[in-house]
This record gives sequence, structure tokens and C-alpha cells, in this order.
Amino acid sequence: MQIAIDGPAGAGKSTLARTLARKMGFVYIDTGAMYRALAWKVLQTGISLEDAEAIAKLALGLDIHFENYRGEQRLLCNGEDLTEMIRSPQVNAAVSRVAQHPEVRRIMVQKQQDMARSSNVVMDGRDIGEWVLPEADYKFYLTAGLQERALRRKMELENKGFRQDLETIMEELRQRDQMDQSRQVGALKILPDSIVIDSSRQSADEVLQQILTIVGKN
Ligand code: C5P
Repeated sequence: MQIAIDGPAGAGKSTLARTLARKMGFVYIDTGAMYRALAWKVLQTGISLEDAEAIAKLALGLDIHFENYRGEQRLLCNGEDLTEMIRSPQVNAAVSRVAQHPEVRRIMVQKQQDMARSSNVVMDGRDIGEWVLPEADYKFYLTAGLQERALRRKMELENKGFRQDLETIMEELRQRDQMDQSRQVGALKILPDSIVIDSSRQSADEVLQQILTIVGKN
């Protein structure tokens, strides 16, 4: 079984996908973390964010996988644990520019499909329902108002030791959404078969319960 969760930045996709996967005994694949790992590597190697060919080459050589460690999912990239680094403001600012190149996306989609091949999965991202798992059993589009998403992101960043004011976060989310929605390939959009859920006025648990009911596990 495959469950796809797409939506804008900060809508609560990863919290939902993680808890949903745990409840259902499925594997959780955070595709945003994969693009973030690539963006981190691009920043580290000093490749231009516009150099699609060099980024695609870098992406091809990356072995990205997830490992559970003390109840937490860690991201390993060529053996290096990047779990914390990929949430930095520098990565936030670069990731959508790295993810906009069609040839880079082709490689990442392939990696994500390979990961989903052998297990039941919950996968979250932007293009999961359309490109990565077009045959998914359920396609959710999780959204929330910009201010609500920015407030949540601010708390999340603070818990990770990064401090940013609300206005800066709102601007960053707005820019990232705009890039994610307007790129040529793999743009974020509501599909004809998407189930749209607005989490603005719902707690994470209410959203989880709603989804469990839809997938028949409640
Ligand atoms: O989900 P998260 O906010 O961590 O994703 C970070 C960025 O990675 C997104 O803003 C988007 O540019 C990119 N991304 C993507 N396609 C996906 C998942 C994430 O382009 N499937």
C-alpha cells in the first residue's frame, strides 16, 4: 500500500506522515529531507545553485537512506549523518532552487521510487501523487494558512536551536511555495484525485485521526 502526502512548506506533512507510518507499521520516506541533503551537499561543494548538470551529477553519486536510531529517523548521506544540518536556514534558502532542475528531479524521483518498491510506504513531499507514486492508494494534500505554518515552523526551528523572527520565516515560506508551485516539472499542485485537508484549525492528532478514518484504520 502507498500513501502520498503533498502540500506546502510547514503544513505539518512530516509530523503527520511519521505518526501515520508508525500507526500503520509502514515505512516513512521524507522526500523533502532527501532534497535538503542534496542542497546541503551543493552548498558544501560550492557548486552554483543554477548549475543543473553539476547538481545532477552530484545527486547521482549520493547514497541517501534513512535509519532508525533510538526511536528517531536519521538521514544518512554517503555514510554521514545530516539529520540536523539539513534543517538549517541556509538549506531552507537553497533547497527549492536546487529542486527546480528537471534533470535533478528525475534522479531524485528514481531514488524515491526505488525506496518505495519493497514496502508499504507513507511518503511526503510536493510531487509524490503526480510523479513519484502516481498509483498511490491515497493521495492527500495537506495545507494550512501561511501565518499558521510560519508559527509552527518557528517553534520547530527553536526546538532545533535556530532562532528566526516570524516575518523572515513567513517570507521564506512564501518564496519557497512560490518556487515549488511554479517550476516546470514536479510542481506542487492539487490533483484531481487529491483529498485536501486544511490543518489550520486542527491539532496534529485530529488530522491523524481524520486520515486514519479515511484509510479505514480507525
Ligand atoms: O518538505 P520540505 O519542506 O522539507 O522540503 C524542502 C524542499 O524540498 C521543498 O521546498 C521543495 O523545494 C523540495 N521538495 C521537492 N519535492 C519533493 C519534496 C521536497 O521539490 N517531493
